[in-house]
Amino acid sequence: MAFDLNYYESKIVCNICKKQYTTYKVRPGRYKVLSQDTDFMPIYDGLNPLLYEVSVCPYCGYAYHKSLTRTYGPFLELIKESYIKRIKKVRNLCKERTIDDAITSFQLAYLVAKFSMEEPIVLANFALKIAWLCRLKKDLKAEMRYLRSARELFYKSQTSDKESEERMQYLVAEISLRLGDIEEAKRGFSRLITGKDVSNKYRNYAKKRWEDYKYDNEKTVNEES
Ligand SMILES: [Zn+2]
Repeated sequence: MAFDLNYYESKIVCNICKKQYTTYKVRPGRYKVLSQDTDFMPIYDGLNPLLYEVSVCPYCGYAYHKSLTRTYGPFLELIKESYIKRIKKVRNLCKERTIDDAITSFQLAYLVAKFSMEEPIVLANFALKIAWLCRLKKDLKAEMRYLRSARELFYKSQTSDKESEERMQYLVAEISLRLGDIEEAKRGFSRLITGKDVSNKYRNYAKKRWEDYKYDNEKTVNEES
């Protein structure tokens, strides 16, 4: 059958109800990363594994993503109280997914993360990924809404890791640019471009992005005049 070629069935044991289920994941050979968008959204050739990142238990509705860390003991009680009990109807998202299904799966993971009090950076990355999915759907309004909440959450995020700190600074500037908050974008990019200890990787990303933006912007201004 066709699905055998594109997906494999991953076996999961649900953290909450402890039942076992299988859920589709894209086979590694069925997609290729072609490039990435300026906010690091991978552009794939073939299927999009992003759609299958979150596993949703078809029995109780618990959503699991590999970035979740509060998946044990007292946190599970919080999730049961605030999330599981409120679910009216559990959806089965274990087979082939549409972009909307994928958005739902990330929204559920977002709720799980929120109720188990995960670090803001976990929530920020979920919001960013939902924005990417909205971009794939060409739903600009929803994309902007999720980018805005991703930026808010990145502002609240803290990390002691240099790479992820720089990634976050870059993303805040990049998201600001997309939201039309040019002042904030400029501030963020210049911090990365002129900062003493900034890695070459993010200094170059920031330089390129800000130069491209200025070039496109001047071009548009000239075309309009
Ligand atoms: Zn379950």
